[in-house]
Amino acid sequence: MQVARLHGPKDIRIADEPAPPLPGPGEVTLKIKTVGLCGSDLHMYETGRIGYTVASQPFILGHEFMGEVVAVGADALDGAHQPLKVGQRVAVEPAVPCWRCELCEKGHPNLCPNHYFYGLFPEDGALRERMNVSARNCFRMPDSLSDEVGPLLETLGVAIHAIDLSKIRIGSSVAVLGAGPVGLLITRLAALAGASKVFAFDKLDWRVNKARAWGAAHAFNVDDCDPAEVVRDLTGGRGVDVAIEAAWSDHSVQQAADMARYGGRLVIVGIAPDDQLRLQHSVARRKGLTIMMSRRMKHTYPRAIELAMSRKVKLEELVSHCFDLSQTSQAYASNAAYERGLNKVILRVGT
Ligand SMILES: [Zn+2]
Ligand SMILES: [Zn+2]
Repeated sequence: MQVARLHGPKDIRIADEPAPPLPGPGEVTLKIKTVGLCGSDLHMYETGRIGYTVASQPFILGHEFMGEVVAVGADALDGAHQPLKVGQRVAVEPAVPCWRCELCEKGHPNLCPNHYFYGLFPEDGALRERMNVSARNCFRMPDSLSDEVGPLLETLGVAIHAIDLSKIRIGSSVAVLGAGPVGLLITRLAALAGASKVFAFDKLDWRVNKARAWGAAHAFNVDDCDPAEVVRDLTGGRGVDVAIEAAWSDHSVQQAADMARYGGRLVIVGIAPDDQLRLQHSVARRKGLTIMMSRRMKHTYPRAIELAMSRKVKLEELVSHCFDLSQTSQAYASNAAYERGLNKVILRVGT
């Protein structure tokens, strides 16, 4: 089968490798159809590392994906506890927790210290034609959702979790820094969750426009303004109830803190390339901010699928570029260069 393997920074090679063995108990084999390219993949692609995880050997990227079941192991129950069958289309939640540790038992499988994650070194991801996955991580996709939007259910799951942590109440004011796929989905969900006003910021004009179309009352290019000042001006000096950082987690963390009101909430979703969090202590302290670090998601696929089916979130509007598996290098290069109009890149692995 064809496989795209990352051998080092900016070095992706296509190779022919043996197909996986028959699925074990609780597993299914998927014919991978589509894989999304994520900001976290870009960190790995550009530097060969993310946070303190360093890829010391070639491995396969791809954690946002869907596919078709082609073989079923014993006791292969999906995320809704239903038996999986050959031919079903499923989207896959990439984190596999142990379900037995203190955090899992307490209902925080997203924080399980014993988990593994498809597409995060050393666990291979989905940029390959066949893959064995945990059945419990599979969620059946309704016919009304296309293969292309399947990978975006993961992105939407990340956004749902951030919104859950933000505790947005009806009439809350919200600022979202970053209008990449995650930031745009957060903007949309904040509006759906009842925010009175959503401010959105990005440095790419087409994303600023998309944020406006997706529910931001005020959307700005950060290069044209001082974002914190804009929020202060438009809230009569008060700031917003909730500021959500969904960009590169660099100076944007400080900007988000500057936008939050006294007693407000700051939710950090972005991942810093240099693995440092920079925040002026006195600002956070004097405001008494509640700071939440958003970590992946908690069983969000059923809600993500409902939202996508209801058309309240139009995932297909995020897909801007599609490539075949053989063009994986090109897909990564396009994403890293932020080609004009680029939102979400989807790789078509099989059809
Ligand atoms: Zn991702
Ligand atoms: Zn666990």
